[in-house]
Amino acid sequence: MVRYDAPLRDYTFLLHEVFEVVELAEQLDYEGWDRDMIDMMMEEWGEIMRTAWLPTNAVGDKVGCTYENGKVKAPPGFKEAWDTTTEGGWFAAAARAEHGGMDCPLFFRNAMDEFAISSNMALSTVGALNLGVYDLISEHGSAELQEIYAEKVASGEWCGTMCLTEPHAGTDLGIIRTKALPQDDGSHQITGTKMFITFGDHDLSDNIIHMVLAKLPGSPEGSRGISLFVVPKFLPGDDNLNGVTCSGIEEKMGLHGSPTCVLNFDDSIGWLVGEANTGMRIMFEMMNRERLATGMMGIGLGEIAYQNALDWCVERRQGRDLKGIRDLNEKADSILVHPDVRRMLLKMKANNEGCRALATWAGTLLDQMRRGDDESKTHATALIALLTPIIKALGTDLGCETCSLGIQVMGGAGYCTEYGVEQFYRDARIAPIWEGTNGIQALDLAGRKITQDFGKNFRSLMWPLLEFIEENRDDVDMAKYTKPLYQSVRGLQQLTLLMIAEGMGNPHFLAAGATDYCTYFGNTMLAFMWARMARVCNDAKAAGTEDPFYDAKLRLADVFFAEILPDNVGLAAKVQAGHKHLMQFPEAML
Ligand SMILES: Cc1cc2nc3c(=O)[nH]c(=O)nc-3n(C[C@H](O)[C@H](O)[C@H](O)COP(=O)(O)OP(=O)(O)OC[C@H]3O[C@@H](n4cnc5c(N)ncnc54)[C@H](O)[C@@H]3O)c2cc1C
Repeated sequence: MVRYDAPLRDYTFLLHEVFEVVELAEQLDYEGWDRDMIDMMMEEWGEIMRTAWLPTNAVGDKVGCTYENGKVKAPPGFKEAWDTTTEGGWFAAAARAEHGGMDCPLFFRNAMDEFAISSNMALSTVGALNLGVYDLISEHGSAELQEIYAEKVASGEWCGTMCLTEPHAGTDLGIIRTKALPQDDGSHQITGTKMFITFGDHDLSDNIIHMVLAKLPGSPEGSRGISLFVVPKFLPGDDNLNGVTCSGIEEKMGLHGSPTCVLNFDDSIGWLVGEANTGMRIMFEMMNRERLATGMMGIGLGEIAYQNALDWCVERRQGRDLKGIRDLNEKADSILVHPDVRRMLLKMKANNEGCRALATWAGTLLDQMRRGDDESKTHATALIALLTPIIKALGTDLGCETCSLGIQVMGGAGYCTEYGVEQFYRDARIAPIWEGTNGIQALDLAGRKITQDFGKNFRSLMWPLLEFIEENRDDVDMAKYTKPLYQSVRGLQQLTLLMIAEGMGNPHFLAAGATDYCTYFGNTMLAFMWARMARVCNDAKAAGTEDPFYDAKLRLADVFFAEILPDNVGLAAKVQAGHKHLMQFPEAML
């Protein structure tokens, strides 16, 4: 059985020492969210995840979901695990007080998401979907829809889904075919087929609330003609199905505990959310949080992969230290004496802790967007525009890399089911695909976000970075972080100008370099996070605080600057290489 301990110390460091969230929560009127409350809630949630969710994770993977007579059954133990969290009122934490919630800050949601993902990624998707459905209904639904659905979805009594994808329409949702026919009573009849719908059917809750993208008669072509509807599995007060049937579930690489369903809507009754033809705009509004939550999947799975790979490596003995025998009483030394083993383990740890810092910063910015004054709202909005695709793409790519390293560092044991780590890799692999593939995130960043408002987002993001570098200019202890950070920022500015200048004349240039540009950008943001964390650790040590945590963090910052940031040199060269070697390659020779 794998083990998991929620990374509480890292979160208290980030929340209280790096981002000073208690002051922020006070400024933003998050009542009651003081340090005691945050720490207590985090600790309790971590423990519930470890004791109630984690034991169901391997079973979920092994047994998976079953589909029989049109009905889907979740794996053994999932219902009990789900009920433990809903009965404890945990999922309602993020909801508004009027819907029975605790109105918790979004920076806190990150920690909740991470612990849930580490403990059972498959089950965590239900919570993430519910929150998405709740956000849509509570922010855009009519008073009547809110009255019927908001509280039940927020609490998890009813579960929700996102029905966007169709057999012929994935990335390109503009070509969906599902139809919505207006009825005299103000409702709509929804007809069409949706596929790949996560938890589209299951037995965790009595009702399932589907958020469905569909087209009204006469609506404009493409994504501007899409509307959003609430379509419940059962209509309120009615025991008969509302024309929603599940015709099968997918066999897939990982995430076996999360059913991926084909759903057929046959004259199902639904209600419009928001205005007609604004479905995509509404969906995009909530994407910031959803994409950040998807980035957390990489971190959550990377963290549990690291913890278990480390445990195994500590015990494993093979070969001798190249500098001489370490342990004379044993036939072989611990594999921790090998530089390559350390490279893998430390890269895993650096990926997790760097991305966690970046996601925590983004969480505080989302809170400012939600509740800040006009100035901080504008600033946070500009930063989040850039950070969202970066966190989604970088967080999930690094999550896969981290889980893959976890397998590699364990050798054959890593590849075998008994030790648990291979499941994390298989589960992590979906995250770069859904919520907009990482290729699309990169295009969003390079093709849209950096030029938006004549480059305002980009300039807004450069301010805090350059300000930080300037503030620390004369600090010799910080030079090993701020110098490479500065070089990376300068490189980013030059690459950005190149992308805009060349990309305006030739979109293939921009699109060919987008993924490498996004990674370069992400690495630069991670460098900023590591430098900020190093600053806090240096200050704490200078103030006489003795805690090995700070030493470990500083040493890990060194790992980042030596092992990861230098990748930017190669990434820049790839962006500069342009598109011709790709686009002039004849299709017939592919
Ligand atoms: C396990 C699982 C769960 C899912 N859950 C849900 C769910 O709950 N609800 C839901 O609605 N959907 C869900 N999906 C669907 C998921 O969001 C899509 O698979 C994803 O959006 C990609 O669409 P696609 O698979 O059709 O790939 P395609 O759109 O066919 O893309 C194929 C490749 O082409 C690239 N590509 C496509 N268009 C472009 C372009 N314009 N520019 C550059 N590259 C491009 C993509 O990046 C990708 O690499 C799920 C999928 C899976 C596998």
